[in-house]
Amino acid sequence: MNYSELLKNIYEEVKGLPLEGKVASYIPQLANVSADKFGMSLLTVDGKEYKVGDTDENFSIQSISKVFTLTHVMSLVGETIWERIGVEPSGNSFNSIVQLEYENGIPRNPFINAGALVMADLLVSKLNDPKKDFLEFVRKISGNKNIEYNLAVAKSEKETGFMNASLVNMLKSRGNIHNKVEDVLDFYFHQCSIEMTCKDLANSFLLFANQGKCAHLQDQIISGSQVKRISALMLSCGFYDESGEFAYKVGLPGKSGVGGGIVAVQPQKYSVAVWSPKLNKKGNSSLGMKALELLTTKTGMSIF
Ligand code: GLU
Repeated sequence: MNYSELLKNIYEEVKGLPLEGKVASYIPQLANVSADKFGMSLLTVDGKEYKVGDTDENFSIQSISKVFTLTHVMSLVGETIWERIGVEPSGNSFNSIVQLEYENGIPRNPFINAGALVMADLLVSKLNDPKKDFLEFVRKISGNKNIEYNLAVAKSEKETGFMNASLVNMLKSRGNIHNKVEDVLDFYFHQCSIEMTCKDLANSFLLFANQGKCAHLQDQIISGSQVKRISALMLSCGFYDESGEFAYKVGLPGKSGVGGGIVAVQPQKYSVAVWSPKLNKKGNSSLGMKALELLTTKTGMSIF
């Protein structure tokens, strides 16, 4: 497959499309990004790298970090995580609180904010120095030891994250948060503030295409069975209440974030990260989705 040529064609095609949507501004610091950035990085399991556009520029990974917390939590506590979080799509927006009350404080899945807050609580309980240890884990699986939290973004979300504060308090009142709500929120806002490039993201997701092994380390991070479970959740719940649409159009497991990033995986073949900051109404990168739809259409390859 000539991915080089393919990425170039996709870039030309999406660059000609109208830049629809809006850069996220509900976290004030995220509004400072230029709307016309676009990068796409594809890494194959046999170690080849293809890229086009702004692939070496850092951006805020936001909810993509939920895949890293799930991976870390599963490597630490295995299946017991499912006593506290479900595995069903929610059909509601990422920060919705309605279901949480009538489902007794058990979040529908780990990729909505309520589920991510329970995972943050688990990591605060399990790790010695939660923020430092989690950052080390992300550095390890991405193969980049320079990855950092963006403290201005974390602070900005702390000052405006009232919905996340509501969710964590509701969870606490139902007995599904074991630490102090401030500590859980602090961890969550930091994990979302991590900055990475398309290349770092593609690198760190390669383990899902590679049976749980980091290609750059040959370290087994999670088991093949855990790869299956996390990938299934990415496919069914990775794109907020647009997960069905993403599966329909792209046909790969993946995860998006409100920083405009999307990462997806073709099992046994490649991981691909794309970044374009303008988001559609459901909070997913408009051009990012389009680029990935073109990728699976042009290659004639998806998981189906
Ligand atoms: N930190 C963001 C929030 O909780 C993450 C949202 C996202 O990327 O989906 O609102």
